Order: sequence, then structure tokens, then C-alpha cells
Amino acid sequence: MNLGAKNLWIFDVDNTLVRDVEHPIPFDDALRLWNHLLKIGKVVAVLTNVGRLSARQIHNVVVEARYDLQLERTFSAGAAAAAYVQNRSPGARCFVISEGGATEDFVTRGLNVVNNPPVDYVAVGADRGMTFAELNFATKMVKEGAGLICISGSRDYPGIYHGQEDVFIGERSIAAAIEDATGAECVVVGKPLPEILTETVKTLGFAIEDSVMIGDNPQSDIAGGKAAGMATILVQRDDNIIEFDAGDMDQTPDVIVKQLDDIIEML
Ligand SMILES: [Mg+2]
Repeated sequence: MNLGAKNLWIFDVDNTLVRDVEHPIPFDDALRLWNHLLKIGKVVAVLTNVGRLSARQIHNVVVEARYDLQLERTFSAGAAAAAYVQNRSPGARCFVISEGGATEDFVTRGLNVVNNPPVDYVAVGADRGMTFAELNFATKMVKEGAGLICISGSRDYPGIYHGQEDVFIGERSIAAAIEDATGAECVVVGKPLPEILTETVKTLGFAIEDSVMIGDNPQSDIAGGKAAGMATILVQRDDNIIEFDAGDMDQTPDVIVKQLDDIIEML
């Protein structure tokens, strides 16, 4: 594979560029590759499964970690979910469970975010302040026919909330409660859904064959990138790998490295 010929380089964020968005300590090997790519004229972007923060907030985190990134090249799971709904039902009435980030992404993309019926879509993101009333209302709306979207698919994830380090129940587990109560099935919008990657590449104005997906997670970054037809690079970090459901998707990366700056000599 001729990586040097590829022009669009899409990076995962958590455990690829920084430890995670709540501990935004950059990895030096990632910074070196990023800066080298910019120096030789490549386009860099990020696509994260984090839905707790909006694309704008993710952009702030990545820039503060010293990565030179443009806001319009920053894609969050919330933004991907909003695009997914907007493409099917422009201006749909959406009830969004989130910590604010996904709600902002939905509003930014022109969706009608509501707290009252009627509701076309219930979108469930990770929300550590979610109330029973919100969960119950979401369930009722799905029972009445609203579509159920899960903004990314983590069952749990490590983080820090109100100053407390912990592992938290993820959006997929909240959506599972609604599925159980209603018999409905959610659509998980986030990596590894290949549509998310193809839409991101298209939005950035590139062809799939010209694009690379780089991440730490075979189940999300690699499975999604492969299914979309992109070149895939796995960086093997020691821990912090979040579990996603990739079913029987191919999770074999084209290239595996321990340090992302090992890529520089392949260009
Ligand atoms: Mg990651």
C-alpha cells in the first residue's frame, strides 16, 4: 500500500491523539506524525465516537492539546448522528438525551430539538446527568413510533465527571433499556458504521481511495474504515480500549504500529 499517495488522513481522538477528551494529554508520537503530514501538504481531520461533547467542543480540546486542526474538519458522533437524521428527515423533531454536546450538534445542523411530543426521533447519547423522567419520556416517544438513534455505541467508558474519576454507563446501555421496554431496535450511528466514514470523506471533498483512517480501536476505527474502503492504520496503545459491537466485520488493519511516528518513514 502506498500511504504516501493518500491525501486525507482522518484520526480518531481518544487514545489516538490524546489520552481521552477529559484527560486531553497529547501523545508525542501522534503530534509528530500530525505535524509531518501538515508539512508535506496532507489534509488532517478527526472523527470521534465521543458524543458527550459537540464538534465545536472536541475541536477546542484537540487544539488545546497543540494539534493544528480546523473546526470544519472536526467530526463528532453527535454531528454524524445529526447528519444521519437530517439526510432522512430534514428539520425532524428530535428528543436528545445528552450532556449538551450532541444537542448542540443537532441544533447546529438544523434539527428541531424538542422536549415535548410529537417526536420524530429519539437520539440517545452518553449522559451522566440523565433523569428517570427523560428516560421514561424517550421510551414513551419510541413506543408511539419515534425512531431510535444511538449516538455511538459504547456500553461503558472511563471518564471524569463532577471531579470524580470513574467508569460510566455508556449510550448503548441507555438505548438498550429503551429497546427492552419498547421492542424497538436502535440504529447505532458512529464508528464502525461505514456510512459515517464515507459521509465524512465526502463532506471533506475527497475520494475513499485517497483516504486513511487511523485509530487505536479495531472494533470501531479499523472495522469502520475497512468497510468503507479506506486504508486503515492501527496504533497499538497499552490500555483504554473501549468496547464496540463490530459483529463479524473485518477488523484487520492494513498497517499496525506501536508508535504513530513510525508512519513518517513510510511516506
Ligand atoms: Mg480511540
